[in-house]
Amino acid sequence: MDIAVMKELDARLPLAGRVAIVTGSTSGIGLGIARALARAGADVVLNGLGEPEEVEANRAALEAEFGVRVGYDEANLMDPREAAGLVEQSVATFGRVDILVNNAGIQFVSPVDTFPVEKWDAIIALNLSAAFHTCRAAFAAMKARGFGRIINVASAHALVASPFKSAYVAAKHGVLGLTKVLALEGAEHGVTANAICPGYVWTPLVESQIGATAEARGISREAVIRDVLLAAQPTKRFAEVDEIGALAVFLAGEAAKSITGTALPVDGGWTAH
Ligand code: NAD
Repeated sequence: MDIAVMKELDARLPLAGRVAIVTGSTSGIGLGIARALARAGADVVLNGLGEPEEVEANRAALEAEFGVRVGYDEANLMDPREAAGLVEQSVATFGRVDILVNNAGIQFVSPVDTFPVEKWDAIIALNLSAAFHTCRAAFAAMKARGFGRIINVASAHALVASPFKSAYVAAKHGVLGLTKVLALEGAEHGVTANAICPGYVWTPLVESQIGATAEARGISREAVIRDVLLAAQPTKRFAEVDEIGALAVFLAGEAAKSITGTALPVDGGWTAH
């Protein structure tokens, strides 16, 4: 192939030949990251809950639009064996995993004294422990090949707290701690680990917490958006999933090989307060 054409392809498809898993990519930020990685040339394994027809439509659309291989694994990441199985099955199908994006997450909003114990357990299981189980399953092979990119979608709540989100804030702080340990253990093996820390991004997860927050605080839906969600976000706008996707592509690429163990806020200045 002509060298100029190769350079052009390289610039447009910086992740060509890479294999990525994105957990929780049937919706929201995960789907945005999966799109961005596929656009950059990576083969992608989707994961998450959803109606089979809708999941298959998204999978087929990504494959058709970007000409990469796109798989789907229905692993329920609340179950440690299924979380590890997601990695094992992806390796069996695609040969390896170069990029692991731990994104699946849930939220529940309640004062700590009445916070349901089963909600605490579920949030810790999905938002924190699942990332440990997938990383644990992928890490040895990444180190052996001398390349790996672990991208954990944490939150501004990995850095600061808000009331009524005890489990979520605890889990996200934990994910950042896990990220730092992975960065240290992977540092001499070409494996990086970083945490993207979004502020508010407009997705179904945010939509679903507006009602609960309104109830917990006894205020209207509009007041939740203005005075609670975007109160601390100086840009006064929700970030978009494509902004998170673009950062994930950068972190997965060659130019980011010295960026590891970091928390990267995409929060419109929230944590600058
Ligand atoms: P979302 O609800 O749109 O998507 C969550 C994804 O997780 C979906 O694909 C869902 O099917 C999947 N999922 C849920 N339970 C699962 C399970 N048991 N096993 C496997 N997958 C499961 O939410 P989102 O807003 O896109 O959030 C994605 C991540 O970004 C979460 O970790 C969230 O904490 C984080 N985040 C979101 C925001 C925001 O403002 N939206 C801000 C900061 C961090």
